[in-house]
Amino acid sequence: MKINVLGIHFDDLTVAEAVEIGSRFLDSDCFHYAVTPNPEFILSAEKDGAFRSIINRADLVLADGIGVIHSARLLGTPLKGRVTGVDFAANMLAELDRRGGRLFLLGAKPGVAETAGENISRQYPNLTVCGTHDGYFKQDEPVVQTIREAKPDLLFVCLGAPKQEKWMAAHGADTGAKLAIGLGGVLDVYAGTVQRAPKAFQKLGMEWAYRLYKEPKRFGRMVRLPLVLVKAVKLRLAGGTKKEDA
Ligand code: UDP
Repeated sequence: MKINVLGIHFDDLTVAEAVEIGSRFLDSDCFHYAVTPNPEFILSAEKDGAFRSIINRADLVLADGIGVIHSARLLGTPLKGRVTGVDFAANMLAELDRRGGRLFLLGAKPGVAETAGENISRQYPNLTVCGTHDGYFKQDEPVVQTIREAKPDLLFVCLGAPKQEKWMAAHGADTGAKLAIGLGGVLDVYAGTVQRAPKAFQKLGMEWAYRLYKEPKRFGRMVRLPLVLVKAVKLRLAGGTKKEDA
């Protein structure tokens, strides 16, 4: 089932359910892409119809961010819970490791994907990191070809939003991967250049506060996020919420 949160149609899934679907995609013989929208995506997608349509056409639309969970509740259509990009990525790596699959890492500054790949290989020795590429390229085709030749099952696309979603929609199928996931700054986390919030912050749904504390320059980006909650309340009061069947 899909739940519409201010124009973004989220899959109502637990982490385990999302991973089960992701695993089925790995077994398939065609391309799928997964997106992990947070409140920032919702605000951008309001103004960018192409971005919104790419998100809503994704094979998995996972609720990354406590603001999405609060908004869904305020709208009277609660989601089962958060499925953050970091958690989904970690679970899919474990799944890929279990089946001895192949992983390609695309994105972040030069050198970051390689370091992330080394750390991932150590943690999941049964999977193969079949290639990496930084996220600051000018031409798409050589990158697509590099990925295709590496023959990955799973592809992490970490170019920031909306670039990574637009890239997956435009080029993902040509990479030959079974599943691509748009994961923002996840390679920085695996490379150790950015730390994930401690567990206590994660449990309280306060990762955003930790992130703001560590990267105060994000203030300009984050200050608009409560707007999503205000919009959810307004819509609820206007009686405009709906649940949809997938
Ligand atoms: N990035 C990239 N190419 C670009 C712009 C950004 O590879 O043209 C990378 C950037 O280096 C970072 C990630 O994309 O590793 C985006 O990080 P951000 O913190 O914006 O994403 P979030 O985690 O907030 O989704």
